[in-house]
Amino acid sequence: MALVLVDPLANTLSRHDPSHPALRADDLAATRGDGIFEAALHRGGTTRALDLHLERMQHSARMMDLPPVDGGLWREVLAQLTEDHAAAQGDADVTLKWVLSRGVEGAGRPTGWAQTIPVSAATERERAEGISLATLSRGFAAGQAASAPWLLIGAKTLSYAVNLASTRYAAAQGAGEALWVTTDGFLLEAPRSNLVVAHGRTLTSPDPVLGLLRGTTQQLLFSWATAHGWDCRYGGLRAGDLRNADAVWLTSSVRTLVPVHHLDGIPLRTDPALTAELAQFVA
Ligand code: PLP
Repeated sequence: MALVLVDPLANTLSRHDPSHPALRADDLAATRGDGIFEAALHRGGTTRALDLHLERMQHSARMMDLPPVDGGLWREVLAQLTEDHAAAQGDADVTLKWVLSRGVEGAGRPTGWAQTIPVSAATERERAEGISLATLSRGFAAGQAASAPWLLIGAKTLSYAVNLASTRYAAAQGAGEALWVTTDGFLLEAPRSNLVVAHGRTLTSPDPVLGLLRGTTQQLLFSWATAHGWDCRYGGLRAGDLRNADAVWLTSSVRTLVPVHHLDGIPLRTDPALTAELAQFVA
């Protein structure tokens, strides 16, 4: 693993030995999950959708009342990180994760860092074999993001305990991943991925205004697919829309494009040729 520490106020960065401690125990990232992050796939020497990641980070910082994100500084940080990765591991795929914390409690000074994380064998298996989903309630109705901004719906915060608990709960039911649903029945997203559904040559993804994170991979997929003649839409999807779909996928920076083969134990249609066609847009 490569690690770069960032001081966002001083606008400085430094390499750090990842086997040595780097974070104070009273940093709000550690004690309260009070910060934001991004995770991007670095493949073949290029960081995928970097502009979209930095835009989303800026949006998350605004929602969290954190200082504005300095895109130039973070690009420099990631350049340093990927240089270290390339020196150690050539052009092997790797996930880049970068974090902006509110910092040590009371200090009023944000902290930051960026690290590499290997792509797991489990992720590669999901890409090849697909995944099953179990629907779980998100606990709110569609459209809460604007009326309840303190819920931070649409910000990529460090507080992922609920996300991980959802995945564990789905696993306990025998599913590979959870799929969150609003209390009024609209499909949202998985705890770390977006949902994309094909009906003929139309791709639909749940509208972020329903209450979910805007995914960089899904946006990348839509812009390429639109350029190649697909009709791409955001909308309100319900479970029945997946049961009559031609194919369903999860998209994320780490997973890229993973076919969904079951929803709540019921088989869904899959289409390996379609998956291969769309995978080229996000690979
Ligand atoms: N939704 C949630 C809640 C996520 O955490 C993520 C990514 O981690 C996604 C969707 C997919 O976003 P992206 O494609 O930018 O990785």
